[in-house]
This record gives sequence, C-alpha cells and structure tokens, in this order.
Amino acid sequence: MTIDELYRDLHRHPELSFEEVRTAGIAADRLRAAGYEVTEHIGRTGVVGVLRNGEGPTVLLRADMDALPVAEDTGLDYTSEAAGVMHACGHDVHVTCLIGAADRLAATRDEWHGTLIALFQPAEEVGGGAQSMLDDGLYESVPVPDVVLGQHVGPAPAGLVGAHSGAAFASANSIDITVYGRGGHGSRPETTIDPVVLAAAIVSRLQTVVAREIAPQETAVLTVGRLNAGTKNNIIPDFASLGLSVRAYSEEVRTRLLGAIERIVRAEAAASGAPEPLIEHAESFPVTVNEPAATERTGSAFRAAFGEGSVLDPGQVSGSEDVGLLATAAGAPLVYWILGGADPDSYLAAARAGTVDRDIPSNHSPHFAPVIQPTLDRGVEALVVAAREWLA
Ligand code: ZN
Ligand code: ZN
Repeated sequence: MTIDELYRDLHRHPELSFEEVRTAGIAADRLRAAGYEVTEHIGRTGVVGVLRNGEGPTVLLRADMDALPVAEDTGLDYTSEAAGVMHACGHDVHVTCLIGAADRLAATRDEWHGTLIALFQPAEEVGGGAQSMLDDGLYESVPVPDVVLGQHVGPAPAGLVGAHSGAAFASANSIDITVYGRGGHGSRPETTIDPVVLAAAIVSRLQTVVAREIAPQETAVLTVGRLNAGTKNNIIPDFASLGLSVRAYSEEVRTRLLGAIERIVRAEAAASGAPEPLIEHAESFPVTVNEPAATERTGSAFRAAFGEGSVLDPGQVSGSEDVGLLATAAGAPLVYWILGGADPDSYLAAARAGTVDRDIPSNHSPHFAPVIQPTLDRGVEALVVAAREWLA
C-alpha cells in the first residue's frame, strides 16, 4: 500500500478521541512489520514503537490520531464513511507521515545510530491524550527521549514546513462554572438570591481581567462562550452556569488569568450572599514552547534539505496542542512544526486576492481537505530530516 492509499484509507475511517482502535492497530502492524518493538494500549489507545540501533541519542517522533465530531463536506472521493466524524484537523496526515517516516528510517538504519521512538498519541483534541500516555507509564515503557519532534498540518501552502521559535501555540483552558442562588417567584425578588444577576456581574467583571490585569505587551483571551439560566420569565432560577475559554502564550499569564477568574467568581458570589460556586476545569492545554536552540538546529536541517524558500516561520498559532507534555515530562526540548497542506495554486490565487481566510479552509472546518501531494511526501521527509539531524 502506498502512503497515498494509506492516507485515503485513514481519512475514510476517522475515529474520535480515545476510540482510535482501528488507527492504532494499523500503526502497530506497520511498526512491527518495519522491525520496531511495539507497545500498544498506552494511555488507552496509544501506540509506541522503538527501534534500537546502537549507541546514540534517543529521538521521539509524535503523531496524534484522533478525529473530530464534524460532518465532512469536502466532496472528496475518499470522504469519511463514519457519520458525523471527520479527520477535520488532519491527524490522518500526521499518522500517515509518521508511518512513512518510521518505514524509511528503519530501511536506512545502517546510516544512523541511536534509538528512534515512533509515538502515536490518542485524544489530542480533548487535551487528555498525551497526559494519559504519561500517566500510563510511557517513559517506563520506552527510553526517555533527548528531543521530541512532531508536526501539524495546516492551511499553509503544501510543500512548506517551519516552526516558530519560543511560544508557538497558545495554552487553552476550558472552565465550567455553576453559581447557586435561591430560586423563587419573579414578583418577590426579596425572598431570593438571583443567580441571573450574579452571573451577569461575573460576565461583566471578567472583562476587566485582560484589560486591567494583563500587561499590554502580553496576549490573552478570556471568552465567556456559554451562559445558561432559568426556564420562565416569572421564575427566579436556583442556579446559572457559565462556560469560559481562556488562552495565553505564557504560563505566567495563564496562571494569572486562572487566579483572577477564581477570585472574581468567588467574590461575586459572596457579594450576592450566594453559596460557594462550583468551578470545574475541563480541557487544559499547556503553552506549546519550541525550544529556541533545538528549533534553530532543526530549521537549518530543513533549509539544507528543502531550500530556503520552502521553510517558513508560521508565527504564533492561537490554537492549542498537548504535544509539549511529552517533552516536559522527558526534560527534553520540543520542536513542533507546521506542515503546509493547502493546494499551492489555490493558496497563491487566494493570497493575491486577499481572501486566504475565506477561501482556504482551516483545521476543524467541514471543508478541510489537505492536498495529498506534495503534503504527504514533504511530511515524511520533514520527519526523516529532523530525526536524522538529531540521531548520530
Ligand atoms: Zn484540532
Ligand atoms: Zn490537530
């Protein structure tokens, strides 16, 4: 099976977070066939393959495997066969390229020394996959790497690769808050504690966090994306709930945001004479930091292999990733680069017309459809070039 065929097959069969059973099985089979020692079911559906090839550094290559609850609308002849599930973030590209790279590095093992780890991670989209592999003893099962490398396909022209040095992807926290009042008749507010007014005060006050507590040089987002309360106009409800999304590019800013939210929510509840609110932390992604020296070293290898014009700096991405946890837990540098997936001609036309944002579908869109080539070949080459740069 060529990697193009493998990609079409994976694209047809997307699986949601922690349900990547078929995908993981394919990865494990391919790794075994290429001579890797394979461990399955790390962090539920995670797979790791290890190729020990003499003395030398240990390099970890990571691909995430999960798809999204999105109904595909690409019109591709290899469109998803799973209703309401789609590889809308391109993790099928990541899996395909890592299988291709693992094969090639195994086939050329007389040209390098060291230990290669190919890691297929579940559940990136819900922020729990990398942590679940670590919690399941990843680094007791495989050697601790000296560097963690990986890539994410995105709406840049296919053929281009590049990593942004330093904070590259934002942190993201999803927080669910429930404030409790005391319900009653809408005509008798004096007998109640109104959670609608309390929630409204919290929403307003939260707007001051980024404006008044974060330095102008920093970037942060605090969005209240959900606010629910009540059932009927003349009933004061018992509780209200809010859903918050928080992003930052440094751990200091993130800590400050989370602290301010906690303080304001509790203080507003106290100001209303309401019971203690419930603050629940759902999805959490750290800031993804590309270690500068390692990023420069890998970028130089890309420039030497692909030419100056094929390597870009994508800048800071406002999306989030959990790949950094694999590096942090190992005490190793991370280099996580963007792999272009957009048709170069369409991209150029859209860029000339100033309509890239409208015409080039982004990740998570039901129209997201990376071109198969040169995306896959470049994605395989990028992993091989980067790994070879770090292996002896
Ligand atoms: Zn995604
Ligand atoms: Zn993704």
